[in-house]
Amino acid sequence: MPDMACVNGRFSPLADAVVSIEDRGFQFGDGVYEVLRTYRGRPFSIEAHLTRLERSAQSLQLATGHTMAQWTSLIHEGLRLSRFPETKIYLQITRGQAPRDHPFPIDISPATILTFRELHPLGASVRNAGVQAITIDDIRWGRCDIKSVNLLANVLARQQAKEAGVFEAILIREGMVTEGSVSNVMVVRNSVIQTAPEGHKILSGVTRAIVLELARKEGLAVAEAFVSRNELFTASEVFLTGTTVDVLPVVRVDGKMIGDGAPGVVSRLLSARWNAFTG
Ligand code: PMP
Repeated sequence: MPDMACVNGRFSPLADAVVSIEDRGFQFGDGVYEVLRTYRGRPFSIEAHLTRLERSAQSLQLATGHTMAQWTSLIHEGLRLSRFPETKIYLQITRGQAPRDHPFPIDISPATILTFRELHPLGASVRNAGVQAITIDDIRWGRCDIKSVNLLANVLARQQAKEAGVFEAILIREGMVTEGSVSNVMVVRNSVIQTAPEGHKILSGVTRAIVLELARKEGLAVAEAFVSRNELFTASEVFLTGTTVDVLPVVRVDGKMIGDGAPGVVSRLLSARWNAFTG
């Protein structure tokens, strides 16, 4: 069961896959991506991820190079070849290969990459205990809704979290919580689930949308409105949502206890509903 890659439609073991050093993704970060995962071997929410990929690409006047049906069949082919119990699927489109010059080159084809690697879900003990986070300044650009491969600010944020010995960095812009470096952030205050609204300041998470829907179905109050950094610390619960984290309770932020320092009722309920929905 090797890690697999597919470069411009050609499958190979990931270790053998290469792209040109003149690929604009490598030189300019001129590209977009998606990360999907499987549950019980089946790719989850393909359509939502491919729709977001299309939207990200369009925002950069980038052609995706494939139809939804073609992407879907490449995903299934990669899963057939890699055959992991659970798989993390990475899709990337860059503007393609051309001599380095900032404006868009004329007449080049986009370069598409897929990779298929074994997914190791977070263990039950981590989920049951909850994780810690730090807050840091959100220094990213003004179009965080585009899932671009320019992830330097996210890389620096997650590295800072790692050095602090915590799981996630919660990003703060002008005093307000935007999202995590690899996740969306939800906060429970006065029995209302609050999360940053869609717009240029956050990535509109596939998990976020489903979790909000599951919450509404439970009759829980939801507000898509920014939470301030101060409000974060007085919240009864904080949790993260995302493809690689599912619904993950945060029990300490900057060393300060959230609620009673254990995953709260709303986080646990939504985590259970998420598992039922994806299982
Ligand atoms: N925000 C950021 C910055 C992310 O990288 C991710 C992970 N893709 C998310 C939010 C969560 O999005 P999704 O639920 O679609 O994985």
